[in-house]
Amino acid sequence: MTLKREKVRKDTLKHQGKRQQLAKVVEGKGIKDEKVLEAIKKIPRHLFMDSSFEDHAYQDKAFPIAADQTISQPYTVAFQTEVLQVKKGDSVLEIGTGSGYQTAMLCELGAKVYSIERQQELFKKTKLFLSKIGYRPRYLAFGDGYKGLPDYAPFDRIIVTAGAPFVPKPLLSQLKVGGRMVIPVGKDLQVMTLFERKSETEFEKTEFGNFRFVPLLEDKN
Ligand code: SAH
Repeated sequence: MTLKREKVRKDTLKHQGKRQQLAKVVEGKGIKDEKVLEAIKKIPRHLFMDSSFEDHAYQDKAFPIAADQTISQPYTVAFQTEVLQVKKGDSVLEIGTGSGYQTAMLCELGAKVYSIERQQELFKKTKLFLSKIGYRPRYLAFGDGYKGLPDYAPFDRIIVTAGAPFVPKPLLSQLKVGGRMVIPVGKDLQVMTLFERKSETEFEKTEFGNFRFVPLLEDKN
């Protein structure tokens, strides 16, 4: 019998100090929402990445994770979350669970989080990891984000964390009247776009700056 020793990764004062710095950097780039900045100070981003890349965790940049995907840049997560304007108790649908960092941010803001991931390996890994470090999203789904989660709709907020070549209709229809959806739209480069649902039939659209995300992939089946 072989004994497998699992390395326990820690969150130290040094990590916490680096997070304070990171929050300052993000604030310096224009993020004002105190709750978002507080969440950056709290979430142990280094644990969302492979231990060999820990040095990169508290720099304000995106980084590769499993299955050819990336953990989004902290500024991007903060920007999208600020535009989303999450209130405690809001039901929020996230498309693209990935590392779970954005999911953790939404949990920190007191949202009931529903998140979809299409890569099975990542879905399994992140589901286990989030519960291990104490985050409790309402529901993590393995599936196609283009379809949303009709069984749990409507949502107060929807956040898409992959570059969408077009705006998926099911997502707009799963938004509550008075709700907000933030989605990066475009092929190579994406325009951060906010949709506010004004009535059953009316949406107000606001465009922000350019961002670069991994693509929101369409399933062929
Ligand atoms: N929110 C993540 C960002 C991950 S990158 C984080 O904070 O780390 C975008 C993620 O979207 C990837 O994990 C990718 O696999 C996933 N994705 C791409 N197309 C998708 C689709 N159609 N449905 C659900 N997830 C999708």
